[in-house]
Amino acid sequence: MEAARMSLTQEFIEKESKYGAHNYHPLPVVLTRAEGPWVWDVDGKRYLDCLSAYSAVNQGHRHPRIVQALKKQLDRLDLTSRAFYNDVMGDFLKKLCEYAGFEAALPMNTGAEAVETGIKLARKWGYEKKGIAEGKAEIIVCQDNFHGRTTTIVGFSSDPDAYSGFGPPTPGFRMIPYDDTEALESAINENTAAFLVEPIQGEAGVRVPSDGYLKKVRDICTREGILLLFDEVQTGFGRTGKRFCFQHEDARPDVLLVGKALGGGLYPVSAALADWDKMEVFTPGTHGSTFGGNPLGSAVAIASLEVLEDERLDERAEDLGSYFMDRIRQISSGKIKEVRGRGLLVAVELHPEAGDARHYCNLLKERGILAKDTHGQTIRFAPALVIDREELDWAVDQIRLVLEV
Ligand code: PMP
Repeated sequence: MEAARMSLTQEFIEKESKYGAHNYHPLPVVLTRAEGPWVWDVDGKRYLDCLSAYSAVNQGHRHPRIVQALKKQLDRLDLTSRAFYNDVMGDFLKKLCEYAGFEAALPMNTGAEAVETGIKLARKWGYEKKGIAEGKAEIIVCQDNFHGRTTTIVGFSSDPDAYSGFGPPTPGFRMIPYDDTEALESAINENTAAFLVEPIQGEAGVRVPSDGYLKKVRDICTREGILLLFDEVQTGFGRTGKRFCFQHEDARPDVLLVGKALGGGLYPVSAALADWDKMEVFTPGTHGSTFGGNPLGSAVAIASLEVLEDERLDERAEDLGSYFMDRIRQISSGKIKEVRGRGLLVAVELHPEAGDARHYCNLLKERGILAKDTHGQTIRFAPALVIDREELDWAVDQIRLVLEV
């Protein structure tokens, strides 16, 4: 029986590996069904999904309201392109702007495209509004950033896996250490258009900056007359205990970049948000996307935002996140170096002597928890925000069994 099970899993893995480029190294589990915070593999084993597709399923898998919205839209209107208007996109953009507190939004599909949109906006704003000489605009970014996988974005990554072999990098980016406001101040010059930063560095291992960093960064950008761009593709939509992570410090950016959970785990939807004095740099023909703002994505995004609001998933993440972190901190284990995070974006960093985080992710998998290692020593836990306390208690028990000495 066990051998038959292995072979079913193995079959799917081998097929993927034979026909798919090897640009990922997944844990050896093949999923076939999902509901709420749970997923099932092809052998019927249930797991608590503690990655939530890198925070793209904050509302839980297959949330009935979002599924219903997609089904309803499927029966009416599919793709129109932006060559014509459709009767859903306006409602989506209005809802998103009201939810996030911005005047305008530009809809795209993936997180990387939202970031590219922010970069284009910042450069054009730099030339047209700030008067930077043509071709000279600079954007300041941080070490260990993760903003996506396009050629321009990997060109300003500090991770050799991300950039090596993909050069030459797009010019016009200047890198400073994360969580360092003095470095920001000294990197700004007359050609600086913007500072692009994640309010918490998710992929770098849930690096939470010092208290006050976001606010200080906001003040510096305002004083120096440059745009502040927050990439909240991973931290947005309730994940950290607020609608957006910048709200922890009341540090509203000039441009907010969002994606992932905007599509409720059902459809790729992303956007760049800004007020009109910045968004107006885009004019017909200067930017776009065939699928951006399409009726299916728009309908899904409206429902995704309604669920976040109606179920108060931000407050839930705040309460359950502190509870979860407290409980993990109570685990007595010589392997744990640090437990950190905000809301339900939590990382457990292991001591180097404990071995690779991936090894523990495999052990957790055996106990019914799917979590992802990031950067060698760190395990990230980011369950769907619809998870309840009992489910978290169960998760803590499994984490204890795997990490307790
Ligand atoms: N920005 C951040 C902060 C992210 O975490 C990610 C994805 N992990 C992206 C951008 C890229 O999003 P996508 O994979 O949808 O392009």
